[in-house]
Amino acid sequence: MSGIDPALVAERAVAVRARLDRAGGHDVRIVAVTKTFPAAAIDAAVGAGITDVGENYAQECVAKLSGTSTDPTVHFIGRLQRNKVRQLAGLVDVWQTVDRIELGREIAKRAPGARVMVQVDISGEETKGGCIPADTPELVGALVDLELEVCGLMGVALLAKPELARPGFRVLRSLVDHLGLPECSMGMSADLEVAVGEGATMVRIGRDLFGERSR
Ligand SMILES: *Cc1c(COP(=O)(O)O)cnc(C)c1O
Repeated sequence: MSGIDPALVAERAVAVRARLDRAGGHDVRIVAVTKTFPAAAIDAAVGAGITDVGENYAQECVAKLSGTSTDPTVHFIGRLQRNKVRQLAGLVDVWQTVDRIELGREIAKRAPGARVMVQVDISGEETKGGCIPADTPELVGALVDLELEVCGLMGVALLAKPELARPGFRVLRSLVDHLGLPECSMGMSADLEVAVGEGATMVRIGRDLFGERSR
């Protein structure tokens, strides 16, 4: 794992914030994606004023959160298996990748009333997961019926080129509006400007805060 330099992370956080502001996203929240980086990355993000962090892997998330000295708001943003929900309940504040009702049921059982987001497939790449746009309203309704707090939708765009992400972001934002939800989680290091232009309320930033990942 790479070493983390808190001063460098703070500097990069300022640069990301400036990019968001230039794109018109003054109120857009940054979720610091710390996958593959040690607990020190969480502490560095919090030190830089970013109190929302994103984790992708259940085991890593559990281990890392026990090693941090800060108390961030934890977003789970990776592919989620139902049998991992139990160990994550109590650690995760926002479950961003709910894409099927079975997951919702398990979260409702292990963490009643939890905040969740529906992950929508906006890339057409099955490997990224997500509920198809046409099925999203029904899933949102079913999660509300489980008394989960559905706060928004999340999407992972095509990564090839920022501009290719735009149509998917547009689909996600129009669903968010249609459903009257507050949050729209889209945009990563490479395409945050496009995401903000299309109405993101939170962007998920890894590399541009912590540097390249080794895996
Ligand atoms: C890794 C990851 C990110 C961050 O990507 P960067 O290119 O490092 O900014 C955002 N969202 C999800 C779902 C991810 O898996």
